Amino acid sequence: MSEREITAAILAVGTELTEGSTQDTHGRFLAGTLVERGITVREILLLPDNRALFAESLRRLAADCDLVVVTGGLGPTSDDLTREVIAECAGVALEFHDELWEQITRRFAGRRISQTNRRQAYVPAGFTVIPNPYGTAPAFWGRVGERRGALVVALPGPPGELRPLVADEVLNLLRAEVGGREPEVLAGTSFLLGESMLEELLQEARVAEVEWGTRAEQFRVVFKLRGGSGEQRERMFEAVSARVGPLRIRRGEVAAEALLLEALRERGLVIALAESCTGGLGAKLLTDISGASEQLWGSFVVYSNEAKERMLGVPAQTIQRYGAVSRETVSAMTAGALERSSAEVSCAISGIAGPGGGTEEKPVGTVWIGVRRRAEAGSERRFLFSGDRDMVRRKSALAAMLLTEGYLGGREVDKDENWQYI
Ligand code: ATP
Ligand code: MG
Repeated sequence: MSEREITAAILAVGTELTEGSTQDTHGRFLAGTLVERGITVREILLLPDNRALFAESLRRLAADCDLVVVTGGLGPTSDDLTREVIAECAGVALEFHDELWEQITRRFAGRRISQTNRRQAYVPAGFTVIPNPYGTAPAFWGRVGERRGALVVALPGPPGELRPLVADEVLNLLRAEVGGREPEVLAGTSFLLGESMLEELLQEARVAEVEWGTRAEQFRVVFKLRGGSGEQRERMFEAVSARVGPLRIRRGEVAAEALLLEALRERGLVIALAESCTGGLGAKLLTDISGASEQLWGSFVVYSNEAKERMLGVPAQTIQRYGAVSRETVSAMTAGALERSSAEVSCAISGIAGPGGGTEEKPVGTVWIGVRRRAEAGSERRFLFSGDRDMVRRKSALAAMLLTEGYLGGREVDKDENWQYI
């Protein structure tokens, strides 16, 4: 006997979507998430901020489907209608939540908060709040329709809030309230590895029924292993990882910056960077993530030899003897960064980004990266990156993060990685 089909609809609200000024990306993301769980997506609907249309569509979808995911329209302004429309369709009133109002005021810490923000502390009566640590608009879920009715989940519009909320909360909610199956997929991310090289490695590591797909993004390739048994997907993942090394093949869809910050956070550590050829790019990438200040002390941008000497106390003789791009110099840079900061970990980058400056011994793309924990000897490693100036700098910053995260995890970063495919 086949299992009962579970059906869903996605309703993305916002006039910017129907006028074409914002491209809907939630439909694709949410549909992928649901389909992976064996849930049939009946419809993806884009609607303007129009109360009557919104209510009529929600009623219809709630009558047809087991699940309706509504995105957007949870903000504080009068065109944000999601709370009102869901309450109307569920036949309940809106209820003020003191604890939500407290959270919202706390997020505004010190800044003037407008009374219109009070709207965001209202949730349809009987609905459950999904706390949103990524923004002010809380998400919520409940039932709409006859008898038990469809599960309706309302999520905030900004992708930076919606996506982590789905990972943190909505998947658990689906398991508990909707059903479906666990996805038969193992996702991974590869860094500093071209898509065609990854494809070759996947082919070499192929296991029976397992199929795969790759998606190249900027400076990383996400891959998904599907089909076969869980054990077979694991075996294939491990085989790829063993060929390249564990630093560049990671489980899940992950970013190098987030991996490093998480490794520091877990251990309660703060890092200082010492950047030569990357000119502050490492710090830029880390500070793109909000909350990085807890883990990042700062970055010494030491481009000239004099800056290395004066700001970090790198001995002039070390630079003269070994060159600015050398194991000895990055080692002195990591030591200096710890000495002149209160950070417990330091990472130094010095390389030849090109197009000029290369020699036979140290061609363009030669980069030394060092990492050190207070009271430890530290570790350094040489890389040879391909690509133009921008690529070399970007790869350097990326490698620095992966290397530092590996070092914190107790890996011998100067040994156990096969860096030959960069
Ligand atoms: P806020 O509190 O930020 O107003 P909200 O829940 O009201 O949140 P919206 O105002 O509808 O959300 O959207 C906020 C932003 O999120 C939009 O300007 C747009 O950039 C983005 N956004 C909303 N819906 C989508 C979508 N379907 N696809 C991609 N981006 C979206
Ligand atoms: Mg809004």
